[in-house]
Amino acid sequence: MLIGAHVSPAGGLYKAIERGTELGAEAIQIFNQSPRMWRPTAYSEDDLARFREARSESTVEAVLIHAVYLLNCGSEDPEIAAKSLTSLTHSLRIGEAIGASGVVLHPGSAKTGDVGAAITRAGRVIAEALAESEHCELHLEDTAGAGGTLGRSFGELAALIDAAGASSRLGLCLDSCHLLASGYEVRTVDGLARTLSECDAAVGLTRLRSLHLNDSLIGLGSNRDRHAAPGTGEIGADGLSVFLSDPHFESLPVVLETGSADGAVSAADIELLHGLRTRGLSMREAA
Ligand SMILES: [Zn+2]
Ligand SMILES: [Zn+2]
Repeated sequence: MLIGAHVSPAGGLYKAIERGTELGAEAIQIFNQSPRMWRPTAYSEDDLARFREARSESTVEAVLIHAVYLLNCGSEDPEIAAKSLTSLTHSLRIGEAIGASGVVLHPGSAKTGDVGAAITRAGRVIAEALAESEHCELHLEDTAGAGGTLGRSFGELAALIDAAGASSRLGLCLDSCHLLASGYEVRTVDGLARTLSECDAAVGLTRLRSLHLNDSLIGLGSNRDRHAAPGTGEIGADGLSVFLSDPHFESLPVVLETGSADGAVSAADIELLHGLRTRGLSMREAA
């Protein structure tokens, strides 16, 4: 397991590697453009080369890109759908230029419309973004299930993958907080095992490519996406130990998005996660 954090690339893409290194992260996740603006950031060949060089000299082993939150690949509005396609394709191409393990995407929202139709539309946009890029993986993230968001269940994630053509470049990013919010137990060994067997039946665990580790302010099935600092929420230290030590997750990058320093991740948070994982592993061994 490669434990790491979401970090900022402010001041230059390579700065994200520096920030990750300061935290002791083995994996980092970045936004490839300002998360509140549609305009893609154009990186020069020099920016990209500097990133690759910083990375090769660092302990950061895995890099993920998070597509920005404005995207709605399932939108009924042709302008939003077109902008989403442009931005997603751009993210995949940057991913290719920096050797990212994948681009993480919130699949979109049906808003108040029909979910099935939104899944079909999202599938078309995702398939087109894959066709317009070469090899970077796309990880669909499970969502907390607020409003009309797509990806609240393994069934919806499977339908999205099918609608997008079931390319081998499509994978899943599971978020511990979103799983709990959408009604999937992740805090006990048995509960998490049941959740993952449901995931296996619907999507296939071979599609599992990355993880977000976040504690949750609100409980099971709340359908609300409210992260808590690790160990302080409804998942808690014991639940996070279980999550981090699951054998299915062993080779995956896991990104902490919400830390204890006013939401930002600190080196102590990363250390805490290592400790919780070790605790979980010995607990499982003793059981
Ligand atoms: Zn996300
Ligand atoms: Zn979230």
